[in-house]
Amino acid sequence: MDDLNVIIHDNYSLIQSRIKAACLRAGRSPESVRLVAVTKYAQLEWVQALVDLGCRDLGESRTPQLEERAALLSPEIRWHFIGPLQRNKVRRTIQCCNLIHSVDSLKLLNTIDRIAGESELEPEILIEVNLSGEATKKGFSSSDLSSAWGDLCQVSHVKIVGLMTMAPHVQDPELARPVFQELRALRDELQQRSPERVSLHELSMGMSGDFEIGIEEGATLVRVGSALFEGLESAES
Ligand SMILES: *Cc1c(COP(=O)(O)O)cnc(C)c1O
Repeated sequence: MDDLNVIIHDNYSLIQSRIKAACLRAGRSPESVRLVAVTKYAQLEWVQALVDLGCRDLGESRTPQLEERAALLSPEIRWHFIGPLQRNKVRRTIQCCNLIHSVDSLKLLNTIDRIAGESELEPEILIEVNLSGEATKKGFSSSDLSSAWGDLCQVSHVKIVGLMTMAPHVQDPELARPVFQELRALRDELQQRSPERVSLHELSMGMSGDFEIGIEEGATLVRVGSALFEGLESAES
C-alpha cells in the first residue's frame, strides 16, 4: 500500500473502532450506527480509497460534486446530501442521493415533495434542527418545528425518517451532549404526534469532534469528515 492508502486505512479503522467502543459504552449494537463519510473536501482518489476499504455511505454538501462522484463511483454507494439545498437543485439532487439530511423549511420540503411526485421517486429526508441558536446555522428552531410539524407530515411522496442537528463548535465535545439529548427528546415528542406512516428512526448527530457523544445519546448516523482524512493535504486547508 502506498502512503495515501495506509493513512486512509488507519484513519478508517480507528474511527470504526471508536464507533464500536462508543456503542459498547452505550449498550448499543454497532450495527445500529452508520458512519457517513463526509467527502466534501476530499480528493476523488481519497474517496476511492475509502470505498475500496468497504465504506458505503458517503456525504456531500454540494449538488455538482455529488452528481459527478455518484456517476464515477460504485453504484453500491449510498449518497447523503448534508449541505444547504437550493430549490432549483432539488430535481438533480434527488436523482442521485439516498438521504437528504438538511431539509430546513416547509417550503423546501414541499418543493422536494412536488418534484418527487413528478419524478416518481420517494426520497428519504431528515429535518434539520438548529438547537444551538447560532444564527450561522440552518434549521428549524425547536418551537418552529413543533408548530410546523402537522404541515410537514402532509407530504405524500417524501418520507420523513428522522432529525439532524449540528452541535455548536466548541473545544469540549461534552458540551454537545445536551444538544444531542434535546434532539432525541424532540424526536420522541414529534413521533408521538405523527401519523402512523411516519417513523422517525434516524438521528443524524455527531461529527469528527463529537461523534462518540452523539452515539452515546442515540445517533443512528454520524457524519465524519476531517477525522477520516487527517494526515492528508486537503485542497481546502
Ligand atoms: C462538513 C460537515 C460534516 C463533517 O465535519 P467534520 O468536522 O469534518 O467531521 C458533518 N456535517 C455537516 C453538515 C457538514 O457540513
